[in-house]
Amino acid sequence: MSVADNLTAVRTRIDDACRACDRDPGEVSLLPVSKTKPPSMVEEAYEAGYRLFGENKVQDALAKSELMDADHPGLEWAVIGGLQTNKAKYVARFATEFQALDSLKVARELDKRLQKEGRQLRVLVQVNSSVEPQKSGIAPDEAVNFAKELAAFDSLDVRGLMTVALNSSEPKAVADCFDVVVGVQEKLRQEVNEVSDWSELSMGMSGDLEIAVAHGSTQVRIGTDIFGARTDPAEIWRP
Ligand SMILES: *Cc1c(COP(=O)(O)O)cnc(C)c1O
Repeated sequence: MSVADNLTAVRTRIDDACRACDRDPGEVSLLPVSKTKPPSMVEEAYEAGYRLFGENKVQDALAKSELMDADHPGLEWAVIGGLQTNKAKYVARFATEFQALDSLKVARELDKRLQKEGRQLRVLVQVNSSVEPQKSGIAPDEAVNFAKELAAFDSLDVRGLMTVALNSSEPKAVADCFDVVVGVQEKLRQEVNEVSDWSELSMGMSGDLEIAVAHGSTQVRIGTDIFGARTDPAEIWRP
């Protein structure tokens, strides 16, 4: 199957999942995750009409942006992986979205660099919904305090929340993660509504998109089921 065929198949899964829970398919967007994949594959998805692509390594994403942006009008990049402070300057230069904000240090550095570039960045706060210590994201009970601090950063356009659910074969355990994020969203809407309306919920990947849609996702991030597995080291694209 081609990238275009896979995009159609994944979009159909999203639409079916929406109908199964009486949601409008227009409420859930599809973010193709092109990390480790070559520009030729991004090109295929671009030809199929997609404009925003998810990447987790800043340098790789920047390299793809430099190779592709000039002759692909409207092409945009979302950094979906954690960021070290010293890489914030790259994100400020080329990305339009950052989905893994979980540190004030990074927020401060991004804001400073964005001011310099005269740019804005859409931002999602990552929530550690499975509360595994090794996972990124802020703890659910720290979300309100963290979110209040974001009011200080004019260049950050805070849109909502992102999570990576527990990797589990037990649907209930996965659903619980998404419900935790919806709970955080409700609290933020009550207590920190000056920062954002928190409407965006980036939840769901290849293995759990149906559960995510049933539990309130407004965007699913799909890599494997569009571009193929990332297991063969020989096939990993490097700039
Ligand atoms: C890689 C990645 C995805 C896509 O995962 P697949 O299982 O390949 O669909 C989604 N979100 C994040 C944060 C990722 O790093």
